[in-house]
Amino acid sequence: MPPYAVRPTTQCHACHRLIDAEAVVCTGCGVMQPAARALDDKKILPVFLLAFLLGPFGVHRFFVGKVVDLVMIITGNFTDKDGNKLTEWT
Ligand SMILES: [Zn+2]
Repeated sequence: MPPYAVRPTTQCHACHRLIDAEAVVCTGCGVMQPAARALDDKKILPVFLLAFLLGPFGVHRFFVGKVVDLVMIITGNFTDKDGNKLTEWT
């Protein structure tokens, strides 16, 4: 790729910011980005077992590359039903 070319971008799967398409970690929220092929390789059974055994801890969500709500709240990226970010702690 020539140095003057615009690098391809994609949306962070957690905060939906535009980031470099090859980024491993989002520069906005710091969440690790899933590799495109890795997502296709995920099977239902391991996710089901993780959800069944460790569901309250959200491990199954991390397994598929999603962020649990507690992380989203702490990083200020948790949204209400209208998509508005919750920004005030008290
Ligand atoms: Zn992000």
